[in-house]
Amino acid sequence: MKYSKVVCIGRNYAEHAKELNNPVPSEPLLFIKPADTLVPFEDPIAVGGHSCDVHYELEIAVLIGKKLKNADAVDASTAIDAVGLALDLTLRDLQNQLKAQGHPWEKAKSFDASCPVSAFIPNDNLDLTDLHLALTINGELRQSGHSSQMLTPIVELLQYASRFFTLNPGDVVLTGTPAGVGVLNPGDQLNASLANKQGQLLTVSTVVQA
Ligand code: ZN
Repeated sequence: MKYSKVVCIGRNYAEHAKELNNPVPSEPLLFIKPADTLVPFEDPIAVGGHSCDVHYELEIAVLIGKKLKNADAVDASTAIDAVGLALDLTLRDLQNQLKAQGHPWEKAKSFDASCPVSAFIPNDNLDLTDLHLALTINGELRQSGHSSQMLTPIVELLQYASRFFTLNPGDVVLTGTPAGVGVLNPGDQLNASLANKQGQLLTVSTVVQA
């Protein structure tokens, strides 16, 4: 399937909102990365081209398989074709500067190659409230979260997003990052995993270009 736009949610885990001194939002905070931002997860990440810190945010990604507009819960849950992992790469210094000026975040969030995405695993009746994601960098656990901690669960998130943006087959939705975000440094080795009660669903790795 050819991927299309990426719809993202900000601050969907309370602990992450707090670590960046952001208020916990009362409604989902949405933004979009264009299709150009999607690159294979395993491609080495280049951080040298930006004057600002590149931060990692590991997120559960869902792949949309059918058109959703003003979707109800049944439509939204049956539209999830597959599940994977993505990095919502963020130029954090620039984002802070844009936020302070009241400007849109696009340059900080939607630059080229800002969305490394893994292969997707088919959604064969996966329990979307039982997904554990984890990221280690150089062998050290940096992020660990569970979909049950999401402020807006995945199905509700798709319903909400589809009120504003028609979701089409090939669209990818990123579902927010747990606490533990931080800066990427040249040479870092990243290992990410997705698991449920039955065991490991997916592991994927990448490196930051030296
Ligand atoms: Zn994010």
